[in-house]
Amino acid sequence: MGHDWDGYISILDAARINDHCRIHCSNPSCDHAGRLDFAPIINRHGPNVGLGKILRTLRCQKCGQRGAFPITLPGTKENPARPIYCPLSGRSTHRCDPLGECKDGCRLG
Ligand SMILES: [Zn+2]
Repeated sequence: MGHDWDGYISILDAARINDHCRIHCSNPSCDHAGRLDFAPIINRHGPNVGLGKILRTLRCQKCGQRGAFPITLPGTKENPARPIYCPLSGRSTHRCDPLGECKDGCRLG
């Protein structure tokens, strides 16, 4: 398959949007989908690993195919995003602190 897994953003950038994303199986005839939490990946590989590199190695629990496509979740009013890293530019691995420093709008950036 010619999918460009390396064209994806890093876990760091993904974790600025939310603390997880939805993923679905790369097999077009399989409908398996799940949730990918970023925190365990960051703990294991660090924040600069490419999201595509991780997605490429995932194996579907239903059909056994390798590879998953991400659906990023920016969050809604009912289900607000909970970014791990502050989305403010120039503070690359600043942990988002929604109750303190980031209270007044880090998500606007
Ligand atoms: Zn599958």
